[in-house]
Amino acid sequence: DRPKTITEMLNNSAAKFPDKEAVVSDKIRMTYKEAKERIDTISANLQTQFHLKKGDRIALLLNNCIEFFLMVFASAQLGAIVVPLNTKLKEKELTFMLLHSGTKLLVSESDFKGKVDSIFSKAKLPDLKQVFFVNHEDSKDTKYLPFSVLEKSTPFKNSVQVDETDPLFIVYTSGTTGTPKGAIGSHIGVIHSAMNYEKILGTNEETKTLIAVPLFHVTGLIGQMLHIVLVGGTSVIMPRYQTESYIQTAAEEKVTFLFNVPTIYIMMMSHKLFRQYDFSSVKTIAYGGAPMSYETIYQLRKSFSNASLQNAYGATETSSPTTIMPASYPDSKIESVGLPVPVADLKIVNEDLEECGPNEVGELLIKGPMVVEGYWDNDEANRTAFIDGYWISGDMARMDEEGFVYIMDRKKDMINRGGEKIFSVEVENALYNHPSVLEAAVVGVPDPVYGEQVKAFIVKKEGTEVSAEELKSFLSERLARYKIPKEIDFISELPRNPGGKVLKNILTNQ
Ligand code: ATP
Repeated sequence: DRPKTITEMLNNSAAKFPDKEAVVSDKIRMTYKEAKERIDTISANLQTQFHLKKGDRIALLLNNCIEFFLMVFASAQLGAIVVPLNTKLKEKELTFMLLHSGTKLLVSESDFKGKVDSIFSKAKLPDLKQVFFVNHEDSKDTKYLPFSVLEKSTPFKNSVQVDETDPLFIVYTSGTTGTPKGAIGSHIGVIHSAMNYEKILGTNEETKTLIAVPLFHVTGLIGQMLHIVLVGGTSVIMPRYQTESYIQTAAEEKVTFLFNVPTIYIMMMSHKLFRQYDFSSVKTIAYGGAPMSYETIYQLRKSFSNASLQNAYGATETSSPTTIMPASYPDSKIESVGLPVPVADLKIVNEDLEECGPNEVGELLIKGPMVVEGYWDNDEANRTAFIDGYWISGDMARMDEEGFVYIMDRKKDMINRGGEKIFSVEVENALYNHPSVLEAAVVGVPDPVYGEQVKAFIVKKEGTEVSAEELKSFLSERLARYKIPKEIDFISELPRNPGGKVLKNILTNQ
């Protein structure tokens, strides 16, 4: 009885749990029944006022909000394709995405009005027919008015046939270099992902999550928002991550499920407020999107003694999870990102594309229904990013005898020091063991003798002191000599994209 579309998925939960809260923000609490009614109203208006048809693209330039949730479902039941835009991007990058996706309708909010106006003053966007701004302020007066522009409607009659293989999203990859690629996610891919999360994390209608990672990336969008609708649980939505309110809201709402990038857990646990709240409601802590240090895992175990900790590895192109760590595992596997999800077919290959043996490191290739069908209007990427139906992940990995997968490094982040390959993640992990290190990033920098040398950037824990020499000597007890950074710089924070990934190319050029 797998739902075929996300509309069916929502309708199932609305039928089973009409009076359960589906989505909550600080101003609004909405049950499944109410959400469904709002979504139908919005769909009707999108059809009659905005003439949105199946296959049309509708872009969202929004902070995390209830309207984001409603718009995704309202567009999906018309067969329209949602383009979630990264709100941190500059006008030029957003213009590219609006043009490239041929977006017809843009939905935004007052925070980004300046950006939107500037885009229109500089670029011609022939496909973009309409823009509207959500007014969150309306929702202060009545919980039914977040969408004043879409208030009046004729009753919604759904006459559009949406199939499971129809596109649902175009998500532009977080792309730190080059032109962003628009990965096309289908209904079926997303539903498979949501079901994998349900099965392996053991989530259900009692699950309540707090979404602070951006909804324009797959972790927030699929790993939390859509997955939680599948199980009939509740999503509490924060506009964006902010440590104090995250701690307070998680405790006050008694959330049961956290899913964040590693850096959020680091910030949360090092904040002075953290110790003052009770998090005994939290049963599951998932993490992913970037490598997690063991040091942070140990701290999480101590701080959330009721919760299972589950690493989830995936990418935009795999609609989120490819491997997930089971709820319990032997400590010897702590470095692993878990086992492949049930429908995933993983292959690790060497440079000659021959399959690697157990524990041999090679590039990870991924196949399965959750892998996107390709990139929007990008023949070159569609040719080069796939091989024999497998998506080429760009990650170096190994698999042990029991099938547990270990991500060693991104291929492009590996350092080649005179032919000696160094995984930046391994050096970072060793650095995280030092009590003064809050955050660490390791990159390769040009070197006249070795071609590349190792360089580390460190953010120190507040109130602690450590010198570069001390860190080097600390590392010398843990790592081979050639892996020890030649240079160590101390900085106040690491440059990150909104998904929490360190922008290593910025560090390399420093
Ligand atoms: P681009 O390829 O355009 O630079 P991106 O690959 O950074 O974009 P995402 O799809 O957001 O975009 O990130 C996926 C990558 O994040 C994975 O390929 C992997 O390197 C990293 N990653 C995701 N989850 C984990 C995890 N649990 N542990 C380690 N690394 C992870």
